[in-house]
Amino acid sequence: MDTPVAALYLISVGALAMCAFQAALLARSSSYTRACWTFAVICMTFALFQFANARQQLAPDLVAAISAHKWVNFFSLMLVPQIWYLIASLDGRAMPFRVTYGVAAVSAWLVAENFGAPFGYRFAQLAVDAPSELPWGERAFVLAGETTRAYTVNRLLSFGAVLYAAIFCVRARRQRARFSNGLVWLSVVLIVVTTSLAPYSDEGTLKLPYLSGFGFLFLAASYLLLVRREATQRMTEKIRISAALEREVASHKLASLRFEYALSNDALTGLPNRAGALDKLRAMFLASESSLTRMAVLLLDLDRLAIINGTRGYEAGNQLLVEVAHRLRSTSGVSGLVARLGSARFVVGIAGHKTWAALEREVEAVLAAVKPPFTVSGTVLNMTFSAGVAIYPDHASSAEDLLASAALALHQARDAGPGNLRVFHPSLQQSLSERIGLENALKEALEQGQFYLHYQPQVRASDERVVCMEALIRWQHPTLGLVMPDKFIPLAEATGAIAAIGSWVIDAACQQLANWREIGFTDVRVAVNLSAQQLLLSDLGDTVQLALQRAGLSGEDLELEITESVLMQDPQRSIERLNALRGLGVRLSIDDFGTGYSSLGYLKLLPVHAFKLDRSFVRDIGKSEKDLEICATAVGLARTLGLEIVAEGVEDAVQAAQLRKLGCHLLQGYYFARPLAAHAATALLMEDRESLRYSSTRESG
Ligand code: C2E
Ligand code: MG
Ligand code: MG
Repeated sequence: MDTPVAALYLISVGALAMCAFQAALLARSSSYTRACWTFAVICMTFALFQFANARQQLAPDLVAAISAHKWVNFFSLMLVPQIWYLIASLDGRAMPFRVTYGVAAVSAWLVAENFGAPFGYRFAQLAVDAPSELPWGERAFVLAGETTRAYTVNRLLSFGAVLYAAIFCVRARRQRARFSNGLVWLSVVLIVVTTSLAPYSDEGTLKLPYLSGFGFLFLAASYLLLVRREATQRMTEKIRISAALEREVASHKLASLRFEYALSNDALTGLPNRAGALDKLRAMFLASESSLTRMAVLLLDLDRLAIINGTRGYEAGNQLLVEVAHRLRSTSGVSGLVARLGSARFVVGIAGHKTWAALEREVEAVLAAVKPPFTVSGTVLNMTFSAGVAIYPDHASSAEDLLASAALALHQARDAGPGNLRVFHPSLQQSLSERIGLENALKEALEQGQFYLHYQPQVRASDERVVCMEALIRWQHPTLGLVMPDKFIPLAEATGAIAAIGSWVIDAACQQLANWREIGFTDVRVAVNLSAQQLLLSDLGDTVQLALQRAGLSGEDLELEITESVLMQDPQRSIERLNALRGLGVRLSIDDFGTGYSSLGYLKLLPVHAFKLDRSFVRDIGKSEKDLEICATAVGLARTLGLEIVAEGVEDAVQAAQLRKLGCHLLQGYYFARPLAAHAATALLMEDRESLRYSSTRESG
C-alpha cells in the first residue's frame, strides 16, 4: 500500500474498536462500571474519529475531503464532553458532573455549527485544495487554513479536559495505585503532545494529520492492560478466598460437630456428661411414664480418687476412671444409661422393670461389676464406691428430681464412710441441710478454738498399766453442742479442712504429752489418728517433726494410727508413705484391723508396729464362736509377724479376760476408761502411778 498513514489509521480503528469491546467487558467485573462504559464509548468514538481521518486523507477531491473533515470534527466534538464525563465519573463528585453537562451543551452547539458552515466549524477559510506531501514523502489530504472563534472555544474545552485529567491523576495518584503507573502517565503525555500538535496542522505550519487518536490508543491499550491485570488478580484472589472459605466452612462444621459432642460427652471416658445424661434420663423417664414401669437412678462415687491422684499421679487416676467406665458400660444394657457426671461420679440409669426386686437385682449387678480390684499400670488397687439410689415413681416425678434425690442418697452414703449405699428417703432432705450447716460451722471451728482432745488409755494386758493415751478429737459447737469425730471428720476430709485440723491434733497431743512428761509420766506415749487425706499430704512428715521438736519429744513418744481400709486402697504407695514416717522414729499402727480385707502377703510388707483389732470383733467375742476365732487368728498373725496387738472396745471383764488369754498385748475400751478430758486423763495417770506404788510396796512388803 502506498498510503501507510491511512493504513495505520485503519489499523487503529480496529484496535480502538477492540479496546471498546474490552472496556465493555470489564464494565461487568470492574468496580468502576460507569467509567468503563464511558471509556468503551470514548474508544468507539475515537475509532470513528480515526476512520473519518482516514477517509479525509484518502479523499479524491476537496469536496469529499471537506465532507470527511466535518465527520472528523463531529467525532472530536463528541469526545470532549465524553472525556469530561469519564473523569467526572472516576472522580465521583457532583460538581464536575454539572460542568460536564455545560460542556456537552457547548459541544452540541458546535456540532450544529460544524454541519452548517461550508468548511466545518473549524475553518473560516481553507488554504488547501489538494492532498499535500507529508514530511516522510507520502501524500494525503490534510486541511489547513484560517480558524474560527468556535474552534478556539472547543480548544479551550479540550484544554480544560486535559487540565482536569491532569489534576485528577495527581490527586488519585496518592490514593489509587492504578493511576500512578508509569504507562498511564506516558500515555497522558502522548495525548497532550499529539493534541497540542493539531493547531499547528490547522494553521498549516506542520504538515501532519491529527495524531491524537494514536495518543489515545496508547492510553486505551495500557489502561486496559492494567485494569485487566488487576481484574485477573482480583479473580485469582476471589478463587483463593472462596476455596479458603470452603475449607473454613468444612473445618467449622467439623469443629461444631466436635463441640456438640464435647457438650454432651466426657472427653476422658467417652461417656455422656451431665448434659448428655440428663437428655437420656429424660427420654428414659418419658418411656417409663408411658409404659408404667419403674426406673432407678444409681449414682456412684469412686471413693478416695484424690488419694490415687495424689499418690500415683493423675494419669493413674484417669486410667482408673476409664476402667470404671468400661465396666459400667459392659454391665448396663443397650437401653440403659451410663454417664460420668463429675471427676469421680458416675450415673447408671436402669429402666423397664415393674418391680423393685428386678431393679435391685440390676443395681446389685452394677455394684458387683465394680467391686473386684482394678489393675492400673501393673498395680492392683482395691477401690470402693459410695452409692445413692432413687426410684421413679416412688422418689421423684421428673428426671431432674430423680437425679437430685439420688444425689441426696449419695451424700448420706458418703457420710457413712467409703463403700456405703443408701436408697433415697424423704428425711434425707433435712439431713442434707444439717450437713451444709455443719460444713459452714466447721470452717471457723479451728480459729474459734472449738476443738479439744479427749484421751483414752491403752493398758498393758498383763498388768493393766497405762502405756499409751489415744487422742480423740471433740468439737464443742456453741449451738450444735458436742459433735463427735465420726460426724465431722468425713466433712473435714471432703472440704479439705482436715489438713489444718489434723496438724492441730498432732501438735496438741504432743504438747499434752510434754506436760505429762514434765510431771513425771515418762513411760507413757500418745497415739494420734490419721485420716486418709492426711496420709496424702506431702508435708505430713514436716508437720510431725515440727510438733515433736516443739514439745521436746522424740519419735518413739508418738504413735500414728491409720485405718486399714485407707492403706488398702493403694498398698504400694501406702508402704512408701509409712516408711517415710517410720524414718522419723514414730510408731505406726493399723487401726480398725480386720475391716479392710488385707491379704497376708501385704500385711507382711507393712512397716508397722501394731494392729488394733476392730471393736466389732471384740464386742461379740464372748457370744460368737466365729468372732472368737477371728480374734485368735488375728492375734496369731500379729505374733507371726512379730507385731503388737491392741484390742479396741473392751467393755467388760469377760472380754478382757478372753483377750488376755488369746495373747493380746494391749487393751483399750470403756471397761478401763472412757475417753477423758485432759485433766481427767492426768488424774487417771496419777492413779495408775499410785496403784503401781501401792502394788510395788505391797510386793516388796
Ligand atoms: P478409733 O480410732 O477407732 O477410736 C476409737 C473409737 O472407739 C473412739 O470413738 C472411742 O470413743 C470409741 N471407743 C473406745 N472404747 C470403746 C468401747 O469400749 N466401746 C465402744 N462402743 N466404743 C469405744 P470416737 O472418739 O467417737 O472416734 C471415732 C473415730 O474417729 C476414731 O476411731 C477415729 O477413727 C476418728 N478420730 C477420732 N479422733 C480423730 C482425729 O483426731 N483425727 C482423725 N483423723 N480421726 C479421728
Ligand atoms: Mg484410733
Ligand atoms: Mg479403731
